[in-house]
Amino acid sequence: MSDASSPTQSDLRTPIVAVLGHVDHGKTSLLDKIRGSTVIEGEAGAITQHIGATAVPLDVVSEVAGSLIDPTEFDLPGLLFIDTPGHHAFTTLRARGGALADIAILVVDVNDGFQPQTKEAVSILQDSQTPFVVAANKVDTIPGWNPNPDSPIRPTYEEQSDRVRGDLDDKLYEIIGELSDAGFSSDLYWRVQNFRANIGVIPVSAETGEGVPDVLTVLMGLSQRYMKEEMEVDVTGPGAGTVLEVKEEQGFGTTLDVILYDGTVAEDDTIVVGAKNEPIVTTVRALLKPRELSEIRTEKRFDQVDSIAAASGIKIAAPDLEDAMAGAPVQVVRDRDTQDVIEAVTAEMAEVAVETDEDGVVVKADTLGSLEALVNSLEEVEIPVMRAEVGDVAPRDVSVATTVDDETFRAILGFNVEMLGDAAERAEQNDVEIFRSDVIYQLIEEYEAHVEAIETAQREAVFENVIRPARFQILKDHTFRQSDPAVVGVEISSGTLRRNVPVGYFTDDNNFTRVGVLKGLQDQGEDVDEARAGEQLAASIDGPTVGRDIDEGDVLWVDLPEKHAKVLEQELKEDLPADEREALGQYLETRRKRDPFWGK
Ligand code: GDP
Repeated sequence: MSDASSPTQSDLRTPIVAVLGHVDHGKTSLLDKIRGSTVIEGEAGAITQHIGATAVPLDVVSEVAGSLIDPTEFDLPGLLFIDTPGHHAFTTLRARGGALADIAILVVDVNDGFQPQTKEAVSILQDSQTPFVVAANKVDTIPGWNPNPDSPIRPTYEEQSDRVRGDLDDKLYEIIGELSDAGFSSDLYWRVQNFRANIGVIPVSAETGEGVPDVLTVLMGLSQRYMKEEMEVDVTGPGAGTVLEVKEEQGFGTTLDVILYDGTVAEDDTIVVGAKNEPIVTTVRALLKPRELSEIRTEKRFDQVDSIAAASGIKIAAPDLEDAMAGAPVQVVRDRDTQDVIEAVTAEMAEVAVETDEDGVVVKADTLGSLEALVNSLEEVEIPVMRAEVGDVAPRDVSVATTVDDETFRAILGFNVEMLGDAAERAEQNDVEIFRSDVIYQLIEEYEAHVEAIETAQREAVFENVIRPARFQILKDHTFRQSDPAVVGVEISSGTLRRNVPVGYFTDDNNFTRVGVLKGLQDQGEDVDEARAGEQLAASIDGPTVGRDIDEGDVLWVDLPEKHAKVLEQELKEDLPADEREALGQYLETRRKRDPFWGK
């Protein structure tokens, strides 16, 4: 929190920091390490716990950073870390149409490199134009690493053996390469001159703490250098914040956990809160912050305060908050016209409205921000969305999903939501597939796998029913029966020969002459349904007489109906074995000698 006694700090608010990255890459550990650094309880300038956030004042940053930092170069009060790491919090927490976080740490496990959620995080940061640094985490796991707990990373890095440093360098360059693929130029942070143009990569270990001083220093430096103007707010003006969570709290009813990014909120202030329908207008009954650690023994979990200034995390107790929504804006009215503030909040809520298509999947998410992020991700992979709403999956959503024509769109994608009522049963009865996850890429991957399965099944069904091309020759001295039906030995030269197909041959002038229907196939006395190129077996053909309509040595073809030939050529060609593709090609070529548009 800002130190009110220092005039230079009074109108600069704390930059808000978010932590993103792939699961298990160390986001929580890094936050814990930062929170754990120099908590000198009761002392002025110590780290303070907010609701949903942790404030690290400049004093602590400079103490941890030691020689890395000259505190006199700074007038920003410190850094406010949002406690919940990950995309979800990041996309949920919006402020005036952009990201609430002013700056972010992208955590990447050096061994694991870029993973799906890392890429997702980069694209989210890119979309929201949030400056970030990369914490290349878990350097202590490089074999042979010589740890230097809680120290700045550069000397530690330089003290490692050539082999260890070489190993780390290889891994860092991979990360730098991935960032470059995503359109960001980056380098080890101590080589970066201009942090606006280049992303600083900081080798760090959330386990040993080495590199943590550097992370704090770089964040502080970046904020001071490039964000000072944005931090110049009227901290005494009417507060503006974002709902982090809507929570029942014993003794207080429904409360809002809010990250305040502008101005001040005080007890008895009238506030306007974005909600499911109309914005809520209510009066602050109590402002609550977490109780000091030393007093946790007492029953009460919160301390009450009269007012609080940005940037901070605070719990607001007020009547009528039941319909409030995570991610929604909160504004203090103060001396303004209530109607104007309602309009501003309504406009902010509408900004996240998503565009939908006529036909597509149904999308549900728990907050406006996550809904928007999910719909954007779906748009990127060209999955159309018919309806997108905040809320749990309800029976009504299933009804909507059943109205689509395309089978692949009979699906509901739910991000971080529950199932309501009999939605699950109804979905099952109506063949609506429901996907739920709290990871966007997983949702998309599962849905894509589902679509692929449907398409494969559809292709297989077509494949089952289509007449397949085949060329075969009547073998010499293998006429078992002359006619009614003719039974002859054949060898399939290419393609797949099935029972119950019309057969014939091409005349010298490329006319197709049908001779009859191949009724049965027998291999060593056993009936078979189909045979492949290379096989020899007995074929019974209804229609012709051997010696008159067909002869030993003749080459016959399956008489492909034009429609089947077209489906085979245009949709199934890739699925055909090479010899069959060749048979199809030759068949079409011969047909097209007389009619160039045959089967097109
Ligand atoms: P998150 O899912 O990104 O929040 O990852 P966590 O912070 O939960 O870390 C995942 C696992 O990696 C845990 O077992 C951590 O103890 C471990 N871990 C995180 N950072 C480091 C590190 O710097 N070094 C080592 N050796 N392990 C780490």
